[in-house]
Amino acid sequence: MYSYLFRGATLVDGSGSLPCMADVAVAGDRIAAVGTDLDGVAERVVDAGGLVLCPGFIDIHGHSDMTLFRHPLLESKAWQGVTTEVIGNCGLGLFPAAAGGRGALADYLRLHDFSLPDGGIEWEDLAGYAARVDRDGLGINVAPLVGHAPLRIATMGMEDRPPAVAELARMEALLATALQQGAWGMSTGLIYPPGSYAETGELIALARVLARHGALYASHIRNESEKIAAALDEAVAIGAGSGVRVQVSHLKAMGGSNRGRAGELLERLAAARAAGVDVAADQYPYNASATTLTAVVPQWAHAGGVAALLARLADPAQGAEIRMQIGHEMARREGAAGIVVTGCRSARNRGLSGESVARIAGRWGCSPEEAVVRLILEEEGNVGAIFFSMAEEDVATILADPGVSVGSDGHALNVAQDGSEPTHPRSYGTFARVLGRYVREERLLSLAAAIRKMTGLPAGRLGFADRGMVRPGLVADLVLLDPERIADCATYAEPHCYAAGIVHLLVAGRPVIEDGKMTGNRPGKVLRKP
Ligand SMILES: [Zn+2]
Repeated sequence: MYSYLFRGATLVDGSGSLPCMADVAVAGDRIAAVGTDLDGVAERVVDAGGLVLCPGFIDIHGHSDMTLFRHPLLESKAWQGVTTEVIGNCGLGLFPAAAGGRGALADYLRLHDFSLPDGGIEWEDLAGYAARVDRDGLGINVAPLVGHAPLRIATMGMEDRPPAVAELARMEALLATALQQGAWGMSTGLIYPPGSYAETGELIALARVLARHGALYASHIRNESEKIAAALDEAVAIGAGSGVRVQVSHLKAMGGSNRGRAGELLERLAAARAAGVDVAADQYPYNASATTLTAVVPQWAHAGGVAALLARLADPAQGAEIRMQIGHEMARREGAAGIVVTGCRSARNRGLSGESVARIAGRWGCSPEEAVVRLILEEEGNVGAIFFSMAEEDVATILADPGVSVGSDGHALNVAQDGSEPTHPRSYGTFARVLGRYVREERLLSLAAAIRKMTGLPAGRLGFADRGMVRPGLVADLVLLDPERIADCATYAEPHCYAAGIVHLLVAGRPVIEDGKMTGNRPGKVLRKP
C-alpha cells in the first residue's frame, strides 16, 4: 500500500525536461511509482490537478547551522519548498572543534552570529556534531560541508600567516576525517579572517584531499567587486591544481565598476569548463548582499580575533589608519548610503537597525567611518549589514544561466520568534522569488529550467545519488506547489514573512507541510556522504 498517491499533477521532475501530467506514488521513504493512471491503494490520495509536483528543493548554499539549534524545524526554508539545505558554507562551521580550541571557535562563531546549543560546543568532529543535531531532529535535511575556518582555528588559531608544514598536514588530516564521517565537501570564506589569511597553495593542498574523496570545493571567493576576475581565476586554479569540483558561492557582480559585467563573469567560468575544470556557481536572486559590518574593516585588523580587533579600533594610531581604510572600502563598494545596518543587540543601538551608515553618521554628527567603528566597538564586533551593491540586470543575467544553481545564502528563521530582528529577505524568499517573480511574472526562464536549478543541478554538484529527481526508487523528498500562487512575501523593509504557495512538503515520505499547514514533524536529519 502506498502512503501517498498524487493524482493528475503537473510533474516537473528536476531534470529540466518539459512538464507532463503524471501520478506519483510514495511508499515508506521512497518514491514508489511514477506514471499515468497508477493503480493501487493509498492511505492518502491527493488531487494534484493544477498543481506542480517536483523534487524537494536543495539549497546548495545555506547558513542554517547558525540557527538550527533554535529553529530545528527550519521554518523559513521549509515554507519555500526546501527539503535539504547545505550548511557549513563561506568557510564557517561548527566542526572540527579541537578540545583546547573550542573557546577560540566559539568566539569566532559569535562574531558571525551563530547561536550555540545549551551546553555550548560539546563535540570534536562531524560525527559528534551530527549526533547532537540528530538527537533533537530536524524538520528538513541538512548536508554539511567542512568550514575552512574551523580547520584553521583548530590548527593555528587566528594567526595571519601561512601554516607550517606540520600544521598543513594537521588540517589535511582533520579534513580527511570529516570527509570520512560524511561531509560533502569543504567551503572557504576568503574575505573573512582566518580564511583570508590562506594563500592559494594552502587551498590547493586541501582541495587535493577533497578530490581524493570525490567531494566539492565551495568558495566565497576572495573578492566580489573590482578584483572579481582574479578571484574567479584563483577558484579555477584551485580546481586545475587539484582536480576538485569547484562551486563559486553566491556569484554576483558587485559595486559600480562591475555594473553590467555579469555576462563576462559567466563567460570566464564557461572558458574554464572548456579548459577542463569542473566549475559552476550558485546565486541568490536579490540585488543586495548581507554580511557582518566588519567586512569593511581591513583584513590585517582582524588578526588575533575579536578582542584584538576591538583593541586596534580603540588604539589611537592603529584606529586612525583603520578608519581611513574603512572610508576607502565603503567608497569602493556602495557608499555609506548603500549600507544598511542590521541586528544591533545593545539597548543603546537597537533603534538603529534598518538605518544606513550615512544616516547614523548624520544622527551622531560624525563621519561614516567613525560611525562604523563606533557601532563595531559598542556592539563588540557583532553587527550585521545589508549592502545594496548589485544591478538588477546582472542578477537576471546570472539567474538565466543554466549552470547556476539557486542557493539562498540565508539561514532558518521563524516569524514568531525572530520577527523583530532585521535580516535579509533571502532567508524567507529565495526559491519562491525565483518561481514567482522570475518565472511566472518576468518569464526570464521556464518553470522546468528554474526547478532544475533547485534540484537536479545542485544534486549533481554535491553528488547526491538518491535525491534531486522524481524517479521511482529515489528518496521521497517532494514538493507540491501552486504555480499561480508561489511567491516570496519577504521584503527588505519587512523580511519576516513566509513564502506562499507550498501545499505539501514531504521529507523522506513524511509530511512537513500538509494542506498548507506545518505539521511539526521532524523527519529531517544530517545527510552524510556514503
Ligand atoms: Zn558567503
